[in-house]
Amino acid sequence: MQQQQIDSLKAMPVAPQQLFINGQWQAGTGSSHSVISPVDGQVITTIERASRADMQAAIKAARQSFDDGRWANQAPSARKQVLLKLAELIQKNALELAVLGVRDNGTEINMAIKAEPGSAAATFQYYSEAIDKVYGEIAPTDANFLGLIHKQPVGVVGAIVPWNMPLMIGAWKIAPALAAGNSVVIKPAEEASLTLLRLAQLASEAGLPDGVLNVVTGQGAVVGEELALSMEVDVLVFTGSGNTGRRLLEYSARSNMKRCYLELGGKSANIIFADAPDLDQAALGAAMAIFRNSGQICISGSRLLVENIIHDEFVAKVAQYAENLRVGNPLHLTSQIGAINSQRQLTSNLEFVAKAHAEGAQLVTGGQQILQSSGGYYMQPTIFTGVESHHHLARAEVFGPVLGVTPFATEAEAVALANDCDYGLAGAAWTNDLGRAHRMIKAVNTGGMFINTYGGSDATMPLGGVKQSGNGVDKSLHAMDKYINLKTAWIQL
Ligand code: ADP
Repeated sequence: MQQQQIDSLKAMPVAPQQLFINGQWQAGTGSSHSVISPVDGQVITTIERASRADMQAAIKAARQSFDDGRWANQAPSARKQVLLKLAELIQKNALELAVLGVRDNGTEINMAIKAEPGSAAATFQYYSEAIDKVYGEIAPTDANFLGLIHKQPVGVVGAIVPWNMPLMIGAWKIAPALAAGNSVVIKPAEEASLTLLRLAQLASEAGLPDGVLNVVTGQGAVVGEELALSMEVDVLVFTGSGNTGRRLLEYSARSNMKRCYLELGGKSANIIFADAPDLDQAALGAAMAIFRNSGQICISGSRLLVENIIHDEFVAKVAQYAENLRVGNPLHLTSQIGAINSQRQLTSNLEFVAKAHAEGAQLVTGGQQILQSSGGYYMQPTIFTGVESHHHLARAEVFGPVLGVTPFATEAEAVALANDCDYGLAGAAWTNDLGRAHRMIKAVNTGGMFINTYGGSDATMPLGGVKQSGNGVDKSLHAMDKYINLKTAWIQL
């Protein structure tokens, strides 16, 4: 990847965007608004703020495309070729997609290229290969019967996704849904819609029939709500905030009781024991667990729990990494940390800082907005110590580069602190003791744990939370269950 290539792509004008409904670009009947880049505050283009009627049209197109079987009834081998082609097109256009996404949401390009087009292509490839490998069963019933278990697509899938990794998270929903034979309507976040609109175009080029994938941009409270309340949507899949997740469950109850799968963020504990194999490595891991993508990652390790005998030494190491991180224009290959997604998010981060001060935590480093002259939104990597479990910083998801540190004395106390949390998405433990590592995997109540590392992602590994982090998983063959109905048939022989 060359800086020159990035520079020429970032200078490319982006045409005003429309809605992608029934295989066509369509002007919405709502309004449109400017897309402001968090990189420099400049207008990139405009996107539609669709109306409820536009969303209904998209749902109708998805419904028709599902009911007439234009996708679901194609031979699995044919559907597989379409999704493989889509994966190939994503790869072919990877840098363009990455630059477009960074202009839209501010993620550092080094990370975006892997996490966005890289991960999306791998996801489509993975599920394309599953299409002719995931199939039904014959149950071991009494010999007088034949018990068939068919795996059928659910129908119309509604997907609502956030702004932090729209292409990756969108692919996590769209790819298994399409692989199972469903039709999809996806609503991106208003703060980052451009890459999913481009994906729709690539899907069409790959041969996906009209109406099978529809992209409707607009406000959550308008088109998101319309999608979630629809009687024609059979499954709703979501990544975003707990407040919105709660609303989606209500919309489901008020409409057709559609299944809802929610990924609602976290407040993940990163636990450092004094016997960690390499404290420098652990400190680097702890810094990147929270500062990568300016903390705008659902699995961010935002609570650092440190065994008290190494607390001061360890915090000093993490602070040193934090202070040396190069925060800056995310389209520069030399920047290690990019921009905050929006003024709204930056303001929210600074409110967390103010509240941490007010509650008596001690600022070790950071805490300020920086690079204002760029016109974009940037913030220093920030660390507070003395964070107590009742503090706001210990309980609420920041979604910004703000780390809270809490000391502990024993393994039992570390587990109790880690579990004293409404969320249960991820966590980590750093220790040389294999027995302790396994105890932590069991005892910390989350969807996933990292041992002596933080992060790591692969299409084969499920990702999902427990407690108020949600339900169901993205990725792996297990994710396909969300998009499949089991249909049984008893046959008297
Ligand atoms: P964040 O605070 O990180 O933006 P949200 O949960 O508000 O998280 O946003 C995630 C996605 O949910 C976005 O696409 C947003 O437009 C959508 N959304 C927000 N409110 C609603 C709602 N009331 N109904 C449906 N979708 C919504």
